[in-house]
Amino acid sequence: MNWLRNLEDRWVLRALRRGQEPEGRRVLLFHQLFTSHEEAAAAPGLPFEGFTTAQLHELILTLRAAGYRFVAPEAPWGGRQVVLTFDDGYASVRHALPICEAYEVPLVLAITTAPVATGHAYWWDERWHHLRQHGHDARSASRQIERMKAFPPTPSAAPQGELDRPLTVAELQALAAHRLVTLANHTHTHPPLTRCTDDRAVAELNACADHLMRWCGRTPTLLCYPNGDVNEAVVSLARARGYTQAYTTQPLINTLATPPLRQGRFTLSGRLPLEPQLARLRTGLSLPRP
Ligand SMILES: [Zn+2]
Repeated sequence: MNWLRNLEDRWVLRALRRGQEPEGRRVLLFHQLFTSHEEAAAAPGLPFEGFTTAQLHELILTLRAAGYRFVAPEAPWGGRQVVLTFDDGYASVRHALPICEAYEVPLVLAITTAPVATGHAYWWDERWHHLRQHGHDARSASRQIERMKAFPPTPSAAPQGELDRPLTVAELQALAAHRLVTLANHTHTHPPLTRCTDDRAVAELNACADHLMRWCGRTPTLLCYPNGDVNEAVVSLARARGYTQAYTTQPLINTLATPPLRQGRFTLSGRLPLEPQLARLRTGLSLPRP
């Protein structure tokens, strides 16, 4: 597949050189942020993007040099913009703040409040660790977790350590108080809202909003759908609850024509070269899944 990827990369770079770079807002989705590739490889949970602090520096500098502005979700639209979002509430998001401060880059934290409240591991990390310990290869473990997303279990185990734990309430409060940070609702226990009854979906959104209000004194008006799962019923529900913007995981460049509650997000992989991925992001061509 390597030759195919290289061929695609060359094609994308050519498109970029020809000026194929639409205006609009590119929202980026991350989960964890590691201080090195070694640390990312040592993390016991589901390997998300495996993105490192050095790569975040490189991303910001590259896109800035290309004329992009890093903005908060509520900023006025115009030109080429980027919004950085971190989902779930992992403790490692703390590594993003000094970088964001250094470059004056806003940061969205989409928090699943139950793990923060209990200190328990995220269920997908718990399952990943269990399956890998019991001889499943990465592919088989990923497949099983993908299947379980429809009916997620209730986590009860403690995290393995620093690399898979959620933020503590005090850490979240400190982050939330920062002028560059916007909080987003990511539900209380992370069920796919498309599979919830209306009552359950409302209870999930309310429980998350109530915890964030109690801990941080703010109710979010931004929502990140768990797994990016959304349909018209979920959109109506979110709108009725006062959410003005919401992010999916559809890789698309948002414009003022994009429905505000169905905005797309791109995912980058820390395990692949960054330059061709940023070229894809700039052209709007979809990125390979990490
Ligand atoms: Zn999530």
